Amino acid sequence: MNEFSIIDKYFSWNCDNSVSVGVGDDCAVIELDSEYQIVTSVDTLIEGVHFSSSNSAADIAYKSLSVNLSDLAAMGAIAKYFTLAISLPRVDEKWLSEFANSLKQIANKYNIDLVGGDTTKGHLSITINVTGFIERGKSLLRSGAKPGDLIFVSNNIGDAAYALRQKQRNEPATLSAMNRLNTPEPRLSLGRSLVGIANSCIDISDGLEQDLSHILNSSKVGARISTDKLPLSKEVSEYIESTGDWCIALAGGDDYELCFSVDKRNKKNVHQIESDLKIKLSEIGVITPNGGLIVDGFSADCSSYRHF
Ligand code: ADP
Ligand code: MG
Repeated sequence: MNEFSIIDKYFSWNCDNSVSVGVGDDCAVIELDSEYQIVTSVDTLIEGVHFSSSNSAADIAYKSLSVNLSDLAAMGAIAKYFTLAISLPRVDEKWLSEFANSLKQIANKYNIDLVGGDTTKGHLSITINVTGFIERGKSLLRSGAKPGDLIFVSNNIGDAAYALRQKQRNEPATLSAMNRLNTPEPRLSLGRSLVGIANSCIDISDGLEQDLSHILNSSKVGARISTDKLPLSKEVSEYIESTGDWCIALAGGDDYELCFSVDKRNKKNVHQIESDLKIKLSEIGVITPNGGLIVDGFSADCSSYRHF
C-alpha cells in the first residue's frame, strides 16, 4: 500500500459544502463569510513525548485532534476544518483503520472536516492544523484580563497528571482519570458560550500555574488563587490529602480544561452557562493589579512541563 492508497482509503472524507476543494488537489479551497475571522492553530504529537507506544491508535487519534480543538475552544471559535500531517513507521492497516475511525468519530462529534494533509514515512508523529471561525473582533484572548476579574476553571483539574503518575508507577487509577489523560474533551461549547462574557481565556495544557501565568503576563496583571477552591475529583483530592502534593493540580498538564476571567458583573452569566451546559465552573480566585501569581494554601514551587 502506498501513501496515495492510504490517503484514499483512510483520509478522504466527505466535507460540508463550504469546502469547495477537499482532499485530492494541491490545496484545499474554502468559502469565507466576511463577518468572521479565521482562527488557526497547529499542534504536533510525537511518540515518546506526547504518548507512548502502549497507547492505542484510537486514543492517539482522539487526543491529537482534541488538543488542537482545545486551542480553538480557548479562543471561543467555531471549529471548522483540519489538516493532518502523519508520519508512519510502516503501513499497519489494523492500526490505520483504528486511527482513522477514532479520528472520524471525534471529528463528527465536534463537527469539523478533514480537508487535507500529508502522509510520510518516519517515526510516528501526528501534526494537526485546525481552523475555525470567530465573529469579527470577538476572540477570547490571553491579554484581556482586568484587575477585579473573577477567575474560573471548568470541570476538575489534575486528573490527567494523576493518571499519568499512576501509569508510570504501574499503580491503578480509575477509568475516568485514565480517560481524562487519553481522551480529553475539548471545551468547544464552553468557549463559544464565553464569547462576550469572558475577558480572557486559555486552555490548561501545561498546568494551571503556568497557563494562568500566560494570561497574567499577556494582560500585565497579577492573580490570587486559593488551593481550597481548586476543583478536584475525589481521587485527586484523596491523593493530595495523603501526600500534600498540590503540584499535581497546580502544575499537572494535559487537563484541557478552560481557565478564564470575567468581570464580577458577569458572574451570573457564568452560573447560567454552568447550568445550560451542565459543566462545573469553579471560581478559584481573582485578578489583581500586579504581583504575579499568589497561591494561598501552598508555597512550594512546582515545575510545569517544558520541552526545552
Ligand atoms: P502534494 O504532493 O501536493 O503534497 P500529496 O500527495 O501529499 O500532495 O497529497 C495528496 C492529497 O491528499 C492532498 O490534497 C493532501 O492534502 C491530501 N492528504 C495527504 N495526506 C493526507 C492525510 N494524512 N490526511 C488528509 N489528507 C491528506
Ligand atoms: Mg504532500
